[in-house]
Amino acid sequence: MGKPAKSKDKEVEKLVPGLYVVGTPIGNLKDITLRAIETLKSVDVIACEDTRVSQKLLNHYGISKPLISYHEHNKEERSREIIRMIEKGKRVALISDAGMPGISDPGFYIIREMRRHGLQVTVIPGPTAFVAALVVSGLPTDKFVYEGFLPRREGRRRKRLEQLKDEPRTIVFYESPYRVVRLLNTLLEILGDRHVFIARELTKKFEQFIYGKISEVIEHFDKQPPKGEFVVIVEGKAQWEKSSKRGVSSYDG
Ligand code: SAM
Repeated sequence: MGKPAKSKDKEVEKLVPGLYVVGTPIGNLKDITLRAIETLKSVDVIACEDTRVSQKLLNHYGISKPLISYHEHNKEERSREIIRMIEKGKRVALISDAGMPGISDPGFYIIREMRRHGLQVTVIPGPTAFVAALVVSGLPTDKFVYEGFLPRREGRRRKRLEQLKDEPRTIVFYESPYRVVRLLNTLLEILGDRHVFIARELTKKFEQFIYGKISEVIEHFDKQPPKGEFVVIVEGKAQWEKSSKRGVSSYDG
């Protein structure tokens, strides 16, 4: 006979003091792992960006824990407080508004501080928008670069794109609905009329994938102004040189 299964309490006892970086859904609340739920139920405190956004997720899973806000504008002060809590033996989960903390959000700062202090950081992986978009794009995934958000200032934005002109790998960007057309226009001007894949509202009710030449996708947005959240994936120079001409196709997921 095998050993009896460990009770959940025993598992909980095993959570050592430290920071637990927990991946949460990027839209569909069902995209969360069993381990993420167990961890969120077992920690002492949950640090999150927008407490209202995270409360919705936690209510959905019947998780009731003290929340502390940790965002771009208080990350330094809050990191010091969280580190003091962990040094006193607390277990703190870090979640963001969507996806994996540390990917284009303030998570990176506290994780680096934890490492500097030699404290325990554990990851509970979950979805992240750029991986979901990339794998479904049909553009080469064997080698790619993640650029996240480009700088907002026009000069710095253009400079970064100039540096990416000869990049042979697939290039992945995050962009807000207010700037996505501007991004496409600058991409067209600096990188040329390459193929682009747009993933809108991944895993949500109005999920949509748009694929075509950059100029065609700009035309598409002239007719249907962008709304929601976007990942923009552009073919790298190597693929552009190989790729054949294809029209825009918009197919709802
Ligand atoms: N930490 C997140 C992750 O793991 O993907 C990213 C946080 S970043 C502040 C937010 C950006 O991620 C959005 O502006 C958008 O570009 C992208 N994003 C997040 N959720 C998305 C979704 N459901 N569909 C498309 N893009 C999404």
